[in-house]
Amino acid sequence: MSQQSKIVILFGRSGCGKGTQAKLLIKEFGFEYLGSGDLLRGRNTQDDFTGKKLKKVMEEGRLVPSPVMFKIWTEKVEEMKDKIDKKGIIFDGSPRTLLEAELINDVFKWYEWDNVKVVLLDISEKEAFDRLTKRRICKKCGKLIPWVGDFRGMKVCNDCGGELITREDDQPKAIRERLDFFNKDVQPAIEYYEKQERLIRVDGDKSIEDVYYDIKKEIQ
Ligand SMILES: [Zn+2]
Repeated sequence: MSQQSKIVILFGRSGCGKGTQAKLLIKEFGFEYLGSGDLLRGRNTQDDFTGKKLKKVMEEGRLVPSPVMFKIWTEKVEEMKDKIDKKGIIFDGSPRTLLEAELINDVFKWYEWDNVKVVLLDISEKEAFDRLTKRRICKKCGKLIPWVGDFRGMKVCNDCGGELITREDDQPKAIRERLDFFNKDVQPAIEYYEKQERLIRVDGDKSIEDVYYDIKKEIQ
């Protein structure tokens, strides 16, 4: 494999801005991207047992168990191996647990990928909760206005002047559950990388530009 290709694992609570940062990194460095959400949404259209069951489990908002998640994930990784070797990749949404972190570690060894950067976009639970419950959407054009930086003071859409309203799926109860999951299941995976002194912690409270700058500095 080329020594240059990087494997980047992005961690962080919902609302930390992972998706935005992944997009910026891809744009500048040409990384491949593998997000667990997209992966599952792609797999659940297949007409086999797992496809149909996935559809049901996801509709009910339940978690896909690790062995199933991992099977789908490794199939995709195998399929993308050449591209990953060439361009590097960003993993978003995996690993979700300590078990998955340990397994993914072995997968990376198997594929001889040793340039692995584990980045945590660190925001507090309160900040995550605020961002997810207070972000708004433009009633007129549908633009999503994040609850971060200068956007907080925005009164009307800066594209079309439309009214800003709260999204229906940003309900406190569902958000609470996502944040609890992070504390209970994802946190041990993060501690695993921390113990190995591989965890890169980036302050996610900063502006999008500053967070991006910090990530770039750390992974280059
Ligand atoms: Zn608008």
